[in-house]
Amino acid sequence: MQADRSPGARGKGTAVQIRNARLRGREGLVDIAVGDGRITSIRPAAVAPADGGQSDRTTASADFDAAGRLVSPQFVENHIHLDYAKTAGVPRDNASGTLFEAIDIWRDRKAQGLQHHDRIKDNARAAALSAASHGVGYVRTHVDVTDPDLTAFYALRELKEEIAAWCSLQIVAFPQNGIYAFDGGDALVDRALSEGADVVGGIPHLEPSWSDGERSVAFLFDLAEKHEALVDIHCDEIDDPQSRFVDVMAAEARARGLHGRVTVSHAVAMAYYAPGYLARLLPKLVEADLGFAIAPNENLQLQGRGFGPPTPRGVAPVRDLVEWGLPVAFCQDSMEDPWYPMGAGDPVRNLDAGLHVAHLLTTDHLDAALDFITVSPARNLGLEDYGIREGAHADLLVLDAQTDREVVREHPDVLLSLHRGVEVFRQEPRTRTWSTQVGNTTVEERTES
Ligand SMILES: [Zn+2]
Repeated sequence: MQADRSPGARGKGTAVQIRNARLRGREGLVDIAVGDGRITSIRPAAVAPADGGQSDRTTASADFDAAGRLVSPQFVENHIHLDYAKTAGVPRDNASGTLFEAIDIWRDRKAQGLQHHDRIKDNARAAALSAASHGVGYVRTHVDVTDPDLTAFYALRELKEEIAAWCSLQIVAFPQNGIYAFDGGDALVDRALSEGADVVGGIPHLEPSWSDGERSVAFLFDLAEKHEALVDIHCDEIDDPQSRFVDVMAAEARARGLHGRVTVSHAVAMAYYAPGYLARLLPKLVEADLGFAIAPNENLQLQGRGFGPPTPRGVAPVRDLVEWGLPVAFCQDSMEDPWYPMGAGDPVRNLDAGLHVAHLLTTDHLDAALDFITVSPARNLGLEDYGIREGAHADLLVLDAQTDREVVREHPDVLLSLHRGVEVFRQEPRTRTWSTQVGNTTVEERTES
């Protein structure tokens, strides 16, 4: 019989024990036992259980010796467009590198009939697999629904079921070309939500006028209430200090009592707000309990063009958001599409860029850096029972590093990934053998050391 090599195949139905794991903020190493998809116990590694280790112990082959390495919750990708993945250059390259040329290319791609169900699904699956190889277990994907056939939405809805064993997808009904700027866009968002989308998306700064943008936010919040859906809007992704839809989102969230259920994606214009306006705005964002999804690599590519020196960075003022206690997730956004020609779905790359552009390379933020790609996006996605504690879902990574700071510095491999207790993959630590001509000696060096 052929071995099943699909992600999540190995370890299916078995329990796993991760031995000698290091947890942030906890002295000593621990053994983490997993059963029925959840963490069943976390015990000091050196202490054998009274029953001689029989109760939680599983087969030796399912065990994993972390050897003092860091165990983290699986990474959460808060904002990506899987239906756009691997479309860069077709029908043409983005010559200006701007966001608005990318949107034009996308509109042309759809008009030329280049979007096909199977192709979208294959590319999206490959993108999800790439993200999973970097430790991602949860993905919120925006799916373009400004298409009367909802081709991409149906492809992603199928994919969500297919990959559920190793990656949990949350689908945003996202009107890429607007709900009023695109004929019938409002009804298409509604329809996608009726047919299984989890989250309401929007793009108010792209609507025909400012008042249309404001009206679109109110309509999308109406849909959120109608469908009991979460909200995640592409908001103010434009180099324009006059774009202030984040204020409108906060007001709607407050007025409707949707605290903690609304994510603001990008919020680029906040980088251009005058200090007086920003000072008035930030407490309102806190009061509305908004979450933020920031794509530092992507917005460094797309924004700040055409200004001349000094060139603005075009990334939301993350440090202000963080200092006000708002949850900020660092995200990928794109993988090889008209918006961004790079992207492997590696959350640590986005974390690294985000910490740099936001001036967050300080001890307190470096020591808890993984929060930007774990607990903050998990909060924005509304994930329950997420984290490393007994009873939580066993969504766990063993990283080839010992601390959050080392993860940011070294970009280590993921050596083990568990999703809901199911093993997604494991791999050996990389080794390097130095030439005898280097330092006149041969050194076996593990990447962790
Ligand atoms: Zn996006």
